[in-house]
Amino acid sequence: MQHTAYIALGSNMGDRELHLLRAVAEIGSIPGSRITGLSGFYDTEPVGPVAQERFLNATLRLETELAPAALLKELQRIETQLFRRKRTVTWGPRPMDLDILFFDDLTMAEEALTIPHPLLHERRFVLAPLAELAPDLVHPLLGRRIDDLLATLDAPGEVTRI
Ligand code: ATP
Ligand code: CA
Ligand code: CA
Repeated sequence: MQHTAYIALGSNMGDRELHLLRAVAEIGSIPGSRITGLSGFYDTEPVGPVAQERFLNATLRLETELAPAALLKELQRIETQLFRRKRTVTWGPRPMDLDILFFDDLTMAEEALTIPHPLLHERRFVLAPLAELAPDLVHPLLGRRIDDLLATLDAPGEVTRI
């Protein structure tokens, strides 16, 4: 069965643009999966408690035959194998962060996998690129469209499309 997932990408170490491009290529070659939309790249102010370099963020739409847990496993494999990501500081700097934002209109809340991503509606660096791909997508828990969530967002963290 085909599913539609939205994935957020972020990098703030090394050549951020090259990292995003490599991650997109690698996600496109996940078995049973096909990228059907890619946002622009956004230079974004880091948000949260850790002082760090600016991020480059993007989102993509993936048609996939994988189940959510299998998709997460593939994304984590890319983070660790391709980008040698080490899990040290929570919310700290990283060459690549890949999060599942939505998976069809599934809702689930486990520590290992929460869908929709629990903070997506509070993050301009997620909503701005996502609004390019899917402005009319409705958040299954909040019942609000992505463009509406972005328009009414009251949160710091400026973003610039490059
Ligand atoms: P944030 O969730 O605030 O964006 P983060 O991306 O920095 O934080 P990580 O250290 O990358 O957090 O991931 C911590 C754990 O989050 C992962 O081991 C993963 O199992 C879990 N997780 C829960 N929901 C999701 C999701 N929707 N997408 C990706 N990982 C998730
Ligand atoms: Ca994240
Ligand atoms: Ca993550």
